[in-house]
Amino acid sequence: MGRDSLRQIRVGTDGAEFPYHGPGGGMLKLESFAVGPLGCNCSLLWDPEAGTGVVVDPGGEGARIQRRVAQLGFKVQALLHTHAHFDHVGATRELQDLWQCPAYLHEADGNLIEHLDMQTGLFGMASVPRPETEHQAHGERREGLAVLHTPGHTPGSCCFHGAFDQGQVVLSGDTLFAGGIGRTDLWGGSSPQIVDSIQRHLYTLDPGTLVIPGHGPATTIGEESIDNPFVRK
Ligand SMILES: [Zn+2]
Ligand SMILES: [Zn+2]
Repeated sequence: MGRDSLRQIRVGTDGAEFPYHGPGGGMLKLESFAVGPLGCNCSLLWDPEAGTGVVVDPGGEGARIQRRVAQLGFKVQALLHTHAHFDHVGATRELQDLWQCPAYLHEADGNLIEHLDMQTGLFGMASVPRPETEHQAHGERREGLAVLHTPGHTPGSCCFHGAFDQGQVVLSGDTLFAGGIGRTDLWGGSSPQIVDSIQRHLYTLDPGTLVIPGHGPATTIGEESIDNPFVRK
């Protein structure tokens, strides 16, 4: 996918839908849109034939996420999280209570999820209800997405990689952005770790892989590995 077509993918503002053929030949659909005061990109990935899917990073605006899932008409099997910063888990409790589904998070972010009030306090934001989380680990797969543990922005930061017939996608959380990387000056962040994670787990993916970051516009692995001012291949 070239630069021009990427510019038309308006991830982060009004949602975008990407049709992919799933591993079993069926179609998987992906849609991302920004939620909450910090504009966290929330992603929906679902199989229209099976009528099931997952929500990644329900960071806020739970009612809006709920409405969109109801419109699309799929049953949410799980809530997945790239990390435990409050802007990525803001609507998790509300939605897991509603849908009665598990919420997954890497265990190395356990300390962050225990201290959501400390996080929102620092940013002067309204407090966020604490979700009940189960552990996700590197290499596990859920609904076509493989977990990549990519510490650095937080100790438990993860990316989700999907390889489909029509292309590959990685939901990169706050690890890799279009033209940037995540900050490492907050609780448990590590600059050498984030560089190592990006080089080891992201820049080794196919250059055509679509990247949907935790904030802002989409990009590709190829573009970032050549042009990213902070980390190159
Ligand atoms: Zn973050
Ligand atoms: Zn964030």
